[in-house]
Amino acid sequence: MIATVSLVLAASVAPYTFIEGKLPKDAQPDGNSIVFEGPVEMLVIDTGRHPEHTDKIIAVAKARNKPITAIINTHWHLDHATGNARIRAAYPGAKLYASTAVEGALKGFLLQNVEKAKARLVDPAVPEGQKVGTRLYLNAIDDPANLVPDQPVTGPMTLKLGGRELRLHLAKHAATEGDVWVHDPASKTVFVGDLVVVPLPFFDTGCAEGWRQALAEIDQLEFDTLVPGHGLPMAHAAFTSYRRAFDAFTACAEGSAPTATCVATWTQAAAPFVAMHPDPKYSEAALTYYVDQVLRVPAKRAELCGRP
Ligand SMILES: [Zn+2]
Repeated sequence: MIATVSLVLAASVAPYTFIEGKLPKDAQPDGNSIVFEGPVEMLVIDTGRHPEHTDKIIAVAKARNKPITAIINTHWHLDHATGNARIRAAYPGAKLYASTAVEGALKGFLLQNVEKAKARLVDPAVPEGQKVGTRLYLNAIDDPANLVPDQPVTGPMTLKLGGRELRLHLAKHAATEGDVWVHDPASKTVFVGDLVVVPLPFFDTGCAEGWRQALAEIDQLEFDTLVPGHGLPMAHAAFTSYRRAFDAFTACAEGSAPTATCVATWTQAAAPFVAMHPDPKYSEAALTYYVDQVLRVPAKRAELCGRP
């Protein structure tokens, strides 16, 4: 879906374009993207994984006949950052604003699957179509200059785009070691990347404590619309219910209740979000995995929360 969200804005402030990340059945997902239009230039939040997604962003800039001069990555996950290289191939001057957490990821999490990926590429039993994502992954980590920011976000900062002011915030040890989220006071919108994911939070690189704090901080702001990393934009009240479900689910996982109780805590408290996924079994399986394999593994929690 590509939609121009027309909220009630001051006449001088253009709306933004929302490009929905797809979750294909047999391929890896793309994260959502946002394109802002300034008087002479364009700015994009997150660039997707597949060329088809990134090309939608470039098409918006081409249609307006304005260059993309800045990219903001909410976090380093490759469904949000792989497209950086493609954007910069079209617009070589584009600056990259992101957390420096990607530097650690390039030496750790992102390296873990390299050998497996290389083996898949030469395995005749793996269908050609399934090798597309593998190639995108290997190419992305082979090109760190398009993942590591030349404009590191190390704390709150403001970007000007014409008369518009975008406020960047950094959440430490939340969905990743460093998550950038963006507040646009003019459109009363926040863009939070994978700090909010429909139908459920992904804990593979997440730290529950820091994440809860980030969601609480966001909830205090004045905004009408929240754009998640995956899923459709939601109203502030819907986000508040997501946040409550997050707090209840992670508190359960930190206690001693059976895993199934914690899973039910999410599926009930976040029922409208769970219902947005086509496969009802998906959420149960994913939540069970996160409770047993991440949230209840002390060494993993310590690592993801940055504790020695
Ligand atoms: Zn994502």
